Amino acid sequence: MNWGDPRLPQRFWDKVHPEPNSGCWIWTAASSWGYGQFGWKRDGEQILVRPHRLTVALVVDLPSNMTVDHRCENTLCVNPHHCLVVSHVTNAKLFWARHPERSAGSPGAVGRPRRRAA
Ligand SMILES: [Zn+2]
Repeated sequence: MNWGDPRLPQRFWDKVHPEPNSGCWIWTAASSWGYGQFGWKRDGEQILVRPHRLTVALVVDLPSNMTVDHRCENTLCVNPHHCLVVSHVTNAKLFWARHPERSAGSPGAVGRPRRRAA
């Protein structure tokens, strides 16, 4: 898949900036929780989708119960070749492997605090 693929509307690509050094396709429009958002019509209904899921789904099978891991670690990147379809469990494992400082019990923890031994 190339940048500007005609299977997605021009208004999609208008919001995507190809980064020549990293090869990332950076989503420049609306985002939430660090991920992009795109208004998309499906079955006549306007829904908000993650733009990287749209591009990935055009390249590989993307079941709704699977998540997308950004191998480039840029969550705004919509280049499907930088993304890996993984289960939620694998995605979490990859995250903790990359961010050991944020694992439970450490000062910057984002997970559930570890229960203290009695
Ligand atoms: Zn990327």
